[in-house]
Amino acid sequence: MLEIRDLTVRIEEREILKGVNLVVPKGEVHAIMGRNGSGKSTLSYVLAGKEDYEVTGGEVLLDGVNILELEPSERATAGLFLAFQYPIEIPGVATMTFLKAALNAKRKANGEAEMSTPDFMKAVKEAGKALHIDSDMLKRALNVGFSGGEKKRAEILQMALLKPKMCILDETDSGLDIDALKVVSEGVNALRSPDRSMLVITHYQRLLNHIVPDVVHVFSDGRVVESGGKELALELEAKGYAGFDEAAA
Ligand code: ADP
Ligand code: MG
Ligand code: MG
Repeated sequence: MLEIRDLTVRIEEREILKGVNLVVPKGEVHAIMGRNGSGKSTLSYVLAGKEDYEVTGGEVLLDGVNILELEPSERATAGLFLAFQYPIEIPGVATMTFLKAALNAKRKANGEAEMSTPDFMKAVKEAGKALHIDSDMLKRALNVGFSGGEKKRAEILQMALLKPKMCILDETDSGLDIDALKVVSEGVNALRSPDRSMLVITHYQRLLNHIVPDVVHVFSDGRVVESGGKELALELEAKGYAGFDEAAA
């Protein structure tokens, strides 16, 4: 499904990703754990197609297609979705309006008809219920004045509506209290499916108590330095990142 081969990336002359190799098969949930500044967000941005990053080598294949050659919107149409670490505020655009535009843009690009307003309202209401998102929140401008928890829940609502086949969640747990973490995790778990893969990026082990991954990758200084089962997250929590840095060096 997702295959990253020897990906190297620079920002302003500095090499941030130093040869990332990673395969996430269809239907699996993989976690990337790494300390602050190791390049996790850079990886997620490069996968989603954000500008400013210079890809100096490697490939990213989504179902065999090198997505690095695609525009961000084309990547989304191909089924890639990124839930941001820091969701962007969009003043003047109601959350509901944004969601409908995003959904219909994707449908249009896939040659499907626009979803009618009643059908859309029904879909949003249904998806929103599990995430404790009420109609008041949907009327507010996207992410403007949202709490940390509301922003992350809005990201997962987008994911639920767009039904991507490859979801990247960048530190979805940051800024969440325990209750919000549970709601968000339940929302993510409900979207686990045999046709959908997920890459869950986190700094802390606790998220992985709620979203239990099939595979854990340790990220250090711009590359994956170790991969293992879910117990690797506990080992990391106990040993800290330093042990893995030495191993990588
Ligand atoms: P993480 O998400 O693992 O905390 P990031 O990908 O955000 O790490 O950052 C990796 C490194 O790249 C950091 O040293 C950061 O300062 C640097 N970096 C990220 N974005 C930029 C940018 N736009 N310009 C310059 N340096 C950047
Ligand atoms: Mg960080
Ligand atoms: Mg980050």
